[in-house]
Amino acid sequence: MNATDHFKKVISHCKEYGYIFPSSEIYDGLSAVYDYGSYGVELKNNLKTYWWRAMVQMHENIVGLDSAIFMHPKIWKASGHVDAFNDPLIDNKDSKKRYRADVLIEEYLNKLDDKINKEVEKAAKRFGESFDVNMFRSTNPRVAEYAEKRRSVADRYVRAAETDNLAELKSIIEDCEIADPETGSRNWTDVRQFNLMFATQFGALAGSETEDAKVYLRPETAQGIFVNFLNVQKSTRQKIPFGIAQIGKAFRNEIIARQFIFRMREFEQMEMQFFVRPGSEMEWYKHWKETRMAWHRSIFPAARLRFHDHEKLAHYANAALDIEFDFPFGFKELEGIHSRTDFDLGNHQQLSGKKMQYFDPELNESYVPYVVETSVGVDRLFLAVVSSCLVDEKVPDAKGEDATRTVMKIPAFLAPIKAAILPLVNKEELTVEARAIFDRLKMVAQCQYDAKDAIGRRYRRQDAIGTPYCITVDFETLEDRCVTVRNRDTLQQERVAIDTLPAHLAALLAASC
Ligand code: ATP
Repeated sequence: MNATDHFKKVISHCKEYGYIFPSSEIYDGLSAVYDYGSYGVELKNNLKTYWWRAMVQMHENIVGLDSAIFMHPKIWKASGHVDAFNDPLIDNKDSKKRYRADVLIEEYLNKLDDKINKEVEKAAKRFGESFDVNMFRSTNPRVAEYAEKRRSVADRYVRAAETDNLAELKSIIEDCEIADPETGSRNWTDVRQFNLMFATQFGALAGSETEDAKVYLRPETAQGIFVNFLNVQKSTRQKIPFGIAQIGKAFRNEIIARQFIFRMREFEQMEMQFFVRPGSEMEWYKHWKETRMAWHRSIFPAARLRFHDHEKLAHYANAALDIEFDFPFGFKELEGIHSRTDFDLGNHQQLSGKKMQYFDPELNESYVPYVVETSVGVDRLFLAVVSSCLVDEKVPDAKGEDATRTVMKIPAFLAPIKAAILPLVNKEELTVEARAIFDRLKMVAQCQYDAKDAIGRRYRRQDAIGTPYCITVDFETLEDRCVTVRNRDTLQQERVAIDTLPAHLAALLAASC
């Protein structure tokens, strides 16, 4: 199955098995907004808990916060979002499709990188062990040509983006002959700026259309952390360096939203702002870069993750990179790590007139701390999990309809349902026993009782949901007080004594993380 077909399968599987539904579906949906179904919400909660434990519970010097979505409109002035949270958009006159000009150019640069990497791979195969990659890169004429092209386009792009030169962005697109990825047309409009914040009117002032009454739906959770920085620091008696973590909804009026839950207009972020002494931020930036990559590697194979340094820095950053994941549509941003300097706290101090400083007892001086941010989207993480875990595979020694199965191989500690308790047949002597086991195990983990349909069909259904363990109660159980525990991934079955089941399940789950 190619990547596009796999992606389509992920989307339909998510709907069929209660992971994700399009929002407002009976009214034909609402673009780039989705609802999480019964299994989806379990997986989402498990991802959030796993992050929270890794970031807050495991760090004495990181504490949590849950700030409101509505905030004073001046916050977004100070943060730069009112003036600078724009995407440059461009329309194709023939296809009428809308694109982000910066994304078109970055994809062009990625293609040049791919071409260079292909040349290197080909040469590595040709020369075998004697291959010197650095020598090849610096001497091969074709690679040199690609590299020079890449450098000159990247330079123009960074300059244009930094100076908001929209005409130059269009010239780059024209000079590089970048075409509409869907239709190949090069008939482009001019590039225009588009602010991504959703605005609404507040309280009794609603309808007055004044700027004062305007409030925004937050486009990131970070600002709630910045404006509470001193409240949290004082109430928890934290000393720098320390962090504040928050999980919450964010809203962006994205120009293009064509990739399922990858780019949504309402989404959820897990952010941690780490406050450090000015001058130490690069050390911490490196620390969090490695720490966050290690966290992702605890869920995904290393080959599906990579770092990507930003070509163009956001208005608040002095260093920034993405952790990218190999989605069905290629490597794309999963998490951002940004060194935000004192930009946010400094601007809030200036605009509010309130001190945003920390008194450092070791240095005996006050300063506005620098900030290193880690920011990961819950929904993108969710998509990374379901797209990498959904597989079709052959079942050994099975025939006909049973010869293949669809399995969601989600790591057990993240799976929505940990164990399904299944009486072999729907007969009272077995169902009474199975229900009693379910009542014991539900105290340990999220479980499901299911007595409907033939046992084979129930196994297939649990495979499709991603349940790592199926516990079957059969007639032998009544004699030997044991049940069969079936492992989703290996298909191996073992007999386990009912009395030891709660501890057995807990141990299996603990071992999976
Ligand atoms: P992109 O370049 O893809 O638009 P970004 O650089 O604007 O993303 P950040 O502002 O760094 O994203 O946000 C941090 C994280 O929030 C991202 O890494 C991503 O996981 C998530 N995120 C951002 N925008 C969206 C969105 N529209 N839908 C879903 N998740 C998002």
